[in-house]
Amino acid sequence: MRLLIVEDDALIADGLVRAMRAAGHAVDHAPDGVTADDALRQYPYSLVILDLGLPKLDGIEVLKRLRQRDSSVPVLVLTARDALTDRIAGLDAGADDYLVKPFDLPEFEARVRALLRRRQTSIAGRIRIGDLIVDATGRSAYFGDIRVELSSREFGVLETLARRAGRVVSKDQLLEALTGWDEDVGTNAIEVYVHRLRRKLEPASVQIRTLRGLGYLIEKAGVDGA
Ligand code: CA
Repeated sequence: MRLLIVEDDALIADGLVRAMRAAGHAVDHAPDGVTADDALRQYPYSLVILDLGLPKLDGIEVLKRLRQRDSSVPVLVLTARDALTDRIAGLDAGADDYLVKPFDLPEFEARVRALLRRRQTSIAGRIRIGDLIVDATGRSAYFGDIRVELSSREFGVLETLARRAGRVVSKDQLLEALTGWDEDVGTNAIEVYVHRLRRKLEPASVQIRTLRGLGYLIEKAGVDGA
């Protein structure tokens, strides 16, 4: 796999490049936003690791341009501690996951593995995540032969998460997906639906992760290496 690491801190970049090469990946390093933007226009990467504070062109802008070109390459954003507004901006711009600096190398490697492994199989409206099948056409969900009994709102939340499996979905995005059915849905209700979904999906090999202040993410259980 070919990876792009966008990081202006030479020491951090060197560590990440070494780790990814040791893991058997081809790695390009861009020390600023303009170099990154150019590289992303030229090469089809499997993953981008993107620092946000960059010289010449900031990381959010690099990400926005990438998504404007309809690229679906996974992007792992590196942010400063407690830079929540950065993270929200990154989420809106199309980031797939976040790592707050300073981070441990094993944690970084686990996130990279998870992003590379995430493959959402979607066949004719059926989305498979682990052993869970979300049938958007039949508006039902199964694992094995077992049908999961869900209210229409619970299914709406599940479907929205499943369509972006492996990526963060904000509460606002979930609300948007539900407001067509019920104008009164509030963010607290989203928490209730997610709680119920977690309970009902417990026997399935999927997990709904909470990314504090950002939203939720559904994925195959155990893929984050935690
Ligand atoms: Ca930086």
